[in-house]
Amino acid sequence: MKKSKMFVASMFCVSLLCGATTTMAEKKESGPVIADEPMWNVAPPPTNYNPILKEQLDKENAQDKNTFRVAANPIIVLDPGHGGTDPGAVGNGIKEKDIVLDIAKRSRDYLIANYPATVYMTRSTDTTVSLESRTAYANSVGANFFVSMHINSYSTSTPNGLETYHYYGSTNGSRLATSTYNKLKSSYSTLRGVKEAGFYVLKYTNMPATLGETGFISNATDAANLATTTFRQNLATQYAQGMHEYWWGF
Ligand SMILES: [Zn+2]
Repeated sequence: MKKSKMFVASMFCVSLLCGATTTMAEKKESGPVIADEPMWNVAPPPTNYNPILKEQLDKENAQDKNTFRVAANPIIVLDPGHGGTDPGAVGNGIKEKDIVLDIAKRSRDYLIANYPATVYMTRSTDTTVSLESRTAYANSVGANFFVSMHINSYSTSTPNGLETYHYYGSTNGSRLATSTYNKLKSSYSTLRGVKEAGFYVLKYTNMPATLGETGFISNATDAANLATTTFRQNLATQYAQGMHEYWWGF
């Protein structure tokens, strides 16, 4: 009898706690905590994934040109998510694969026009590219850093705004995700933060990497913005300026 009363009491406390936690999370996030992008365990790693090199490059200081392993001018790989048979998120008359390809091409053009950088893309047309191919390509060209571009989506239309990601515990990944976030945030009124996640492209690239979720295709306002050339150009420029700050320090 006593035991069962205690059980009931403890269940009551747990449900109260759960209720409080859910409410707080909903107020803070107003939507998903982690974006719905492919995780590290959906496919095998690329054959040229090198976790020791990943660890080493994660700690290097890009501004320390005397000890830095590579030339001062970076090799950058831009990764427009999805493509071809994979549209990514779809909603409000637009597709994630088209929006992120346009932003990435504009960002590449801005980078090349303004900075001494070499820029490659995992795709520059509407083609299907596997996760292994994306990461294997970045690893094979010896990229100094990797920027994956995505648009968020949710099952309801309320969540909106900006977030960027890096792999769990990544030092330079965090710096890159924060630099791009700090430039992109002038385009958004809802700021969802810099987050950690185990996305495939963040884990299996040998170099510091970030993944940006620039708005929700499922939100009417975000989608209407993303549908305009002006907004996409702004994002492209802000991405590039964030990369510049990451690499050159200003
Ligand atoms: Zn995506």
